[in-house]
Amino acid sequence: MSKTQETVLEIDLKALKHNFDYLKSRILKDTKFLVVVKAYAYGSDAREIAAYLENLNVDYFAVAYTNEGVALRDAGIIKPILVLHPQPINYKTIIDRCLEPSLYNFNSFNKFIAVASEENQKNYPVHIKFNTGLNRLGFKALDIEEIHNKLKTTSAVKVKSIFSHLAASEDLTEKKFTLNQIQIFKTISDKFISKVGYKPMLHLCNTSGILNYPEAHLDMVRSGIGIYGFGNSEKENKHFSPVVTLKSVISQIHSIEKGETVGYNRAFKSDNLIKTATIPIGHADGIGRQYGNGKGFVTIHGKRAYIVGNVCMDMIMVNVADIDCKEGDEVIIFGENPNASEFAERANTISYEIITAISQRVKRLIIK
Ligand SMILES: *Cc1c(COP(=O)(O)O)cnc(C)c1O
Repeated sequence: MSKTQETVLEIDLKALKHNFDYLKSRILKDTKFLVVVKAYAYGSDAREIAAYLENLNVDYFAVAYTNEGVALRDAGIIKPILVLHPQPINYKTIIDRCLEPSLYNFNSFNKFIAVASEENQKNYPVHIKFNTGLNRLGFKALDIEEIHNKLKTTSAVKVKSIFSHLAASEDLTEKKFTLNQIQIFKTISDKFISKVGYKPMLHLCNTSGILNYPEAHLDMVRSGIGIYGFGNSEKENKHFSPVVTLKSVISQIHSIEKGETVGYNRAFKSDNLIKTATIPIGHADGIGRQYGNGKGFVTIHGKRAYIVGNVCMDMIMVNVADIDCKEGDEVIIFGENPNASEFAERANTISYEIITAISQRVKRLIIK
């Protein structure tokens, strides 16, 4: 990979393809594949990622919010896009831009039907979400009767899929809970199908669901984190390749005498002569203050340089006392080694949080 002269987030499309192929190898040929590209494709670049995947065998995309779906349509993405959490204020936009809403309670369901009717829609595709234990969004089994009664009164919408979301698919100590969620979803979908008299697509699994619960793949799976290179366990991570590498550069090197301090509020006080390097990446770029004061580190010439003092908005200072380095040298924040998951552990968080935190001002560089 190229040597950088500024802070960049490299996006490796070869790694993306590798992860996609690996996940495909874990599902049946007829199972559809939805890629979750919410939150700028997990902090990378949703347009680039979706455009690349559209040419592979991806069946569906999903985003969280309507504006994310609109951005993909603006970029020319034509595959179906499921909007997981649209707000009623955007329903007209959803229809205008051929986005497909998840409807999860009677408020969202009735309002969407009203807007679709007003817009003279016929069989507009909608996705009904059921709550099977995450207790975040979703109808209950008891609601099926009323959903059916409402559907009978309109031809404006047609249920294209029913789905649910697993709460702890990555945690094998919660296997009993997850198997119960799978069972509840099966009961719900059987009941739904027998009521409405046709079979919508059924889907339940996120990345860890794909890896740990093959019996629950159903008609389609939904992968986010796996596509970006994380399997949510040490064992599974080996099969994946991180798509993004966050890199930077040494802007300046300082000698810090014993007794001197570094950074805001003098949070670091040196008890001997050290050397620090100032790196142009800070909390406004996504490296939160919790990584400060020795928690987080960067890698320079393969060696760890720990953050000294507080993380600034635009910079960090790292201890390079034991590293032979100079201004202009390359700095790795995370990528292959350490990967984002290992980096995130230092601040007691997870890969999902650190990769989605990389702010939009960091330049994205696509590696083909
Ligand atoms: C974000 C999300 C996913 C993707 O989960 P991963 O663990 O990243 O694979 C799947 N389904 C729903 C409903 C989501 O919100």
